[in-house]
Amino acid sequence: MSLGFFAGEDPEVYGMDEERPDDEYFMRLALREAERAREHGDVPIGALVVRDDGEVIAAAHNERELRQDPTAHAEVLALREAAQALGSWRVLEAALYVTLEPCAMCAGAIVLARVSRIVYGASDPKAGAAGSVLDVLGEPRLNHRPEVAGGLLGEECGDLLSEFFASRRGGMI
Ligand SMILES: [Zn+2]
Repeated sequence: MSLGFFAGEDPEVYGMDEERPDDEYFMRLALREAERAREHGDVPIGALVVRDDGEVIAAAHNERELRQDPTAHAEVLALREAAQALGSWRVLEAALYVTLEPCAMCAGAIVLARVSRIVYGASDPKAGAAGSVLDVLGEPRLNHRPEVAGGLLGEECGDLLSEFFASRRGGMI
């Protein structure tokens, strides 16, 4: 069964040659965060903000249903938490890890926060704004362009989503 989530198929485009040793570790933490969204019936997407020195300054998961807030995506919540931790809206010298390719809103927030590096898991051909539908993160006319890597643990990240939607179709909701 395919719901349209899949691992990045063209690693070079998404910069996986830039993968760093700790990336997988942090993506696994983001996955663990994503699993927590299921506890309140939210689509399991998790995000983490990690400073360049390795300190995790924010971890969040999708809370759209929980808050009944269309903007309560994991990335936006994580960026808010990171900005609060730093005492600045500029989330500099940090990377954001997210289990699903960011949407247009989250990609916009990432650009606004001046995050230097984004690593995502599964691609989202229906809403992704890191190249799948739009390429907000790679738009040369914007004043900030983060380094982007995609497809890391993409299969696991996508499976978590597929299982969630399959269980909902199974009559839970
Ligand atoms: Zn989003």
